[in-house]
Amino acid sequence: MSKPDILLVRPIMPLIEDGLTQHFTLHKLAQVADEAAFFREVGPRIRGVAAGGAGKADRALIEKLPALEIIANFGVGYDGIDVKAAAERGVIVTNTPDVLTDEVADLALGLLLATVRQIPQVDRYLRAGKWLEKPYPLTATLRERKVGILGLGRIGKAIAERCAAFGLDIAYHGRSRQADVPYRYYDNLLAMARDVDVLMVVAPGGTATHHIVNAEVLEALGPDGILINVGRGTVVDEKALVAALRDRKILSAGLDVFEDEPRVPAELIAMDHVVLLPHVGSASVYTRNAMGQLVVDNLVSWFEGKGPKTPVAETPWPRK
Ligand code: NDP
Repeated sequence: MSKPDILLVRPIMPLIEDGLTQHFTLHKLAQVADEAAFFREVGPRIRGVAAGGAGKADRALIEKLPALEIIANFGVGYDGIDVKAAAERGVIVTNTPDVLTDEVADLALGLLLATVRQIPQVDRYLRAGKWLEKPYPLTATLRERKVGILGLGRIGKAIAERCAAFGLDIAYHGRSRQADVPYRYYDNLLAMARDVDVLMVVAPGGTATHHIVNAEVLEALGPDGILINVGRGTVVDEKALVAALRDRKILSAGLDVFEDEPRVPAELIAMDHVVLLPHVGSASVYTRNAMGQLVVDNLVSWFEGKGPKTPVAETPWPRK
């Protein structure tokens, strides 16, 4: 029996490629010279797609693949996949939840500490030989801060546990109040921003969250306020953020994600009171391997007739 044909929409880590090669015939879009000819000749045979990160699966791609059954996304955030278009066609979408939760939460706390205590700036100070001249100026503190988590999901909860261990007061905002969590719920993001001095963004991207952290929310956070974003860049109005930082409406920001990655606004790069990371929340060998294995496992499980392992909410399994 011939192996099912799978399309890789961008180059992927060797672990995934090796895992997939054992079970599937792989086609790499990045190596295709004539896309129109590829979709005409091979497109009708493609039954699975591996996507993620810069490798998006939009409606146009989905429509070019009439035999498509499943899209396996590398990453828990799947805003690069048009899930609506997939659901309309009965195409299952999977992501990689849970296996990256602790890694991203660790990074979020590292970024929070780095931002408050200016750890990268202090490192630069020492390397520049300035310690020989005078001690580094005193910094802000994490002590007595209130953290408002926007998006108390899997990662948000892991961040909350870590914040609790640091002795911080914790609140959260999401579309619904959650039973069995000990943190204060706000049904209004602006109201939460007024009451906290760290806003920790760990909500997904997409239209529903687009720019919900806007100028008003940043102003409410206040001049001692710190924004940390490990969710998606599109959740924050980046222009409003640049203005708030420039005008000292907030104290600082620690960002792992940006609106137009990998492009980061020059204004942010020029600022010394921000900490900027190139979307590395889950980027350890350990966790990326676990994510890659889950991409492979989803595709293998599907084509063995055992269903997807981790389907997203919009394409549930068993089908509704
Ligand atoms: P979950 O689905 O478990 O949690 C998402 C949370 O966001 C839920 O608590 C949900 O609460 C809240 N939420 C969703 N929509 C809205 C909305 N419109 N307004 C307010 N809150 C909302 O996902 P994870 O915790 O596993 O991952 C969260 C996100 O983190 C991912 O989608 C991804 O974008 C990002 N991420 C970033 C990484 C990085 O490298 N920086 C790595 C991994 C993930 P409710 O349903 O009550 O609204």
